[in-house]
Amino acid sequence: MAINVANSEPIAEGLFTWPSNDPRLLGSKCNNCGVVVFPAQSSCPACSSTSTETIELERKGKLWTYTIQCFLPNRPPYEGPETPATFKPFGVGYVELPDQTRVEARIKTNDVSKLKIGMDMELVVEKFMERNGKDVVAFFFQPADELN
Ligand SMILES: [Zn+2]
Repeated sequence: MAINVANSEPIAEGLFTWPSNDPRLLGSKCNNCGVVVFPAQSSCPACSSTSTETIELERKGKLWTYTIQCFLPNRPPYEGPETPATFKPFGVGYVELPDQTRVEARIKTNDVSKLKIGMDMELVVEKFMERNGKDVVAFFFQPADELN
């Protein structure tokens, strides 16, 4: 879906760089032990250090695991365009980035025949819904071979 960038906003602040032609997820890196997590946190889940910095994560990773969610998530906290009548099952999984950060994300297919653990995945930021007259963009991962 085409995004009207000038009239768009991210689904939540602090998840990824926006607006951008090359959006990146924003994680945090621990200055003490080097652990990288997504979303960014002000303290390290591994060593409890509060010395962390926000960093831009790699766009590509490997599918670590996945499933197909066949029910509409509870709202709140879930926010999305679907109604019980329009809901379609969607892929959800973890993508492991090169620094071993695992990112939980929606996957752009619900066809299990197109998914395989260990396959190359790439970040995409797309229009997800509309809110208050604006295009709301969210992040997804998609099999990298479908983008080329
Ligand atoms: Zn740490």
